Amino acid sequence: RVERRWLFADQLGPHFLDAPDQPVLLVESKAVFRRRVFHRQKAHLVLSALRHREAAGDDVRLVRSETYAEALTEPVSVCHPTSRAARAFVQRLDTVEMRPPRGFVTAPGDFVAWADGRKHLRLEDFYRFARRQHDVLMDGDEPAGGHWNYDAENREPPPRGARTLDVPPPPPIREDAIDDEVRADLDRWQHDEGIEFVGNDGPRLFPATRTEALARLRHFVEHRLPAFGPHEDAMLANDPLMAHSLLSAAINLGLLDPREVVDRAEQAYRSGAAPLAGVEGFTRQILGWRDFVWHLYWYFEPRYRTANALDARRALPAWFASLDADAVEARCLSDVLAGVRDRGWVHHIPRLMVLGNYAMQRGWRPGAVADWFHRCFVDGYEWVMTANVIGMSQFADGGRMSTKPYAAGGAYINRMSDYCGGCRYDPKHRTGDDACPYTAGYWSFLARHEDTLEGNHRMRRPLRGLRRLDDLDALVEQEEARGSRAP
Ligand code: FAD
Ligand code: SF4
Repeated sequence: RVERRWLFADQLGPHFLDAPDQPVLLVESKAVFRRRVFHRQKAHLVLSALRHREAAGDDVRLVRSETYAEALTEPVSVCHPTSRAARAFVQRLDTVEMRPPRGFVTAPGDFVAWADGRKHLRLEDFYRFARRQHDVLMDGDEPAGGHWNYDAENREPPPRGARTLDVPPPPPIREDAIDDEVRADLDRWQHDEGIEFVGNDGPRLFPATRTEALARLRHFVEHRLPAFGPHEDAMLANDPLMAHSLLSAAINLGLLDPREVVDRAEQAYRSGAAPLAGVEGFTRQILGWRDFVWHLYWYFEPRYRTANALDARRALPAWFASLDADAVEARCLSDVLAGVRDRGWVHHIPRLMVLGNYAMQRGWRPGAVADWFHRCFVDGYEWVMTANVIGMSQFADGGRMSTKPYAAGGAYINRMSDYCGGCRYDPKHRTGDDACPYTAGYWSFLARHEDTLEGNHRMRRPLRGLRRLDDLDALVEQEEARGSRAP
């Protein structure tokens, strides 16, 4: 008889069990919500997924307790958890046997063997290694189609004049009695026990069951994947979803196995249902980026999480922390912040180039920014934050995972979106009443970090541009005066 498997709330799919009928232990701990202010829809999604998992199995024991320790009264096994704190907790328990991690395509040992001794850990190299090792999008020893990388085709601005991409939206989720119960519980915790949440409640938008997740995957591959590639990096004010998959929350809850997701995408390419460039771009996100950031979380030393190479010390302003989009006039930032408030999700470019870029320009503390992303996004987990927020978005690691800071002015946002036309600011202006906060913020960021960035050859051109500015003093003064006010 197989032992009971304790499943954390991000290990809910069949690939976390040794046999389909393995007995399961689930723990719903309220303490998690007392410690941190999570987005209301994220709390709903996680609790709904846990409770639906209880309802889906024959021998599933769901224990509701204040802490995990109280619930662990019998010997169980568990797959390697996804945070250092959870792993340390599991390792302290005599009654729990820990198995290797699941829920990622590549194995930790293979990553370490690939990474050890390399001067730079670059996604592109890891991604090629992973594709070869797992035979994904390969024709023998060669990449399918003859190229590893179709990024150049996948970085187009939005189609000219379009208000939306012409792709069918993901099918809506139908809430049920379990969702009603979760909503009532959260209301009660909020009003009677003072547990706080951030963001608006709303109908559940993301899968909480394996069935819902598979339906979303099928719909994406059939209807949205064919359009995924070209406008992957573009933003449209009236189309927050574009052709993105919205599968991150389901994969991170463990409802979908990332390997089945990339296999389905590859089948779509092989059958002629989706073009290679988009399928390659999508595969790169999952087999590449997702596995890469997972391994970096464990590979980098624990204090990587507290890295602060640019010495950014400012606190998150209240309007940002509380998702007060109405306080913001900058059209791009207001819209994206409203997306976080209303859905707990925006796609990659708003995260990196609107939210992260703004935070880095203003010198907000990277640890606080990472914590904010973790709490406010339906797909946020500690392992994702380290590389994505500390490394990629805030450059707080001084360049261990990206070659230059993802800092950009209004020109980038103007090229990649339709936001600027309807904004009270002008992306070309860096000083004056209509100076775009991103453009002004970009130059003042470069001015502040000129010495640190000097040795970075990819920053030479921007720094030359900085030295040619004749209004830098006025610009810096204006940015100082803006302080932490909403733009
Ligand atoms: P798609 O564009 O459809 O991509 C497909 C899948 O690839 C995603 O579902 C996701 O599983 C995976 N993926 C793509 N990029 C990454 C990446 N950089 N890291 C990990 N997985 C990736 N992703 C999270 O899952 N959770 C987070 O909390 C998170 N926070 C982020 C914070 C910042 C500042 C940045 C720059 C990126 C963050 N990402 C995070 C990565 C990425 O933005 C999201 O995975 C993606 O936007 C989710 O939407 P989607 O499912 O439609 O993705
Ligand atoms: Fe954003 Fe600046 Fe464009 Fe306004 S002008 S939408 S603030 S980039």
